[in-house]
Amino acid sequence: MNRFIILMYHMINEPETAEEIKYACPPETFDHHMLQLKLNGFNPVSLEQIEQHLLFNKDLPEKAVAITLDDGFEDNYTHAFSILAKHKIPATIFLASGCIESTNLWMTQRGFPKRKMLSWQQIREMDQHNISFGAHTVNHVKLPELETKSAAHEISASKKEIEDNLGKICKHFAYPYGLFNSENRDSVAAAGFKLACSTRSGFNNAQRDPFVLHRIEVYGNDPWWKLKQKMTFGINDASLFFPIKYYTSRLFSRFNQ
Ligand SMILES: [Zn+2]
Repeated sequence: MNRFIILMYHMINEPETAEEIKYACPPETFDHHMLQLKLNGFNPVSLEQIEQHLLFNKDLPEKAVAITLDDGFEDNYTHAFSILAKHKIPATIFLASGCIESTNLWMTQRGFPKRKMLSWQQIREMDQHNISFGAHTVNHVKLPELETKSAAHEISASKKEIEDNLGKICKHFAYPYGLFNSENRDSVAAAGFKLACSTRSGFNNAQRDPFVLHRIEVYGNDPWWKLKQKMTFGINDASLFFPIKYYTSRLFSRFNQ
């Protein structure tokens, strides 16, 4: 049984403030991550391939990894697009559809710097070149905080807006902030999506609920060794001592059995 990994990025840009460091991966770092993925034998796959694997049991390569970028920042076009193309790596961008052609309103309200979001023209161009687009609600809302009906509308309206603009079915969804309840999960399925990404950390395999796929969050300042450790252990928080702690606790649990 193949296990596969889904990575989550946000901005591909220099951070402007300390609080952005986690979410803004500088282009050189992103380029290095993509290069190292290939040098270390990982096989980049699209979410479409993962969908085919989960739904129809189609083969996935060993060490399959999918790249996702949340929110739809303009730097995904100005920086990430050419890097992904250079390494021939597919990716999926999850769009908060109401923020397209606008700014990151849900973040500026919390004190983050203002950032430009993608335009439809940029989205359409990338759509022709190995980048796919998923939905991420209209207004980047916390779904469980809304009434189930309003939450379902945020989910289905973002799908429709993307479909109207791209002229193709939008099949993949990501929960903003990783937040959802069982009704939200069912609304995503009922809206016609084929899979959904959460922010729960860890690996996936064919047994995973397609509407609660796990992802590994890449922090903007993760050097390659940290990202590699995250991908080895299926964790979000890497540290120099983690492997030692991991193996000693496994050793002790064996002694204690
Ligand atoms: Zn988001």
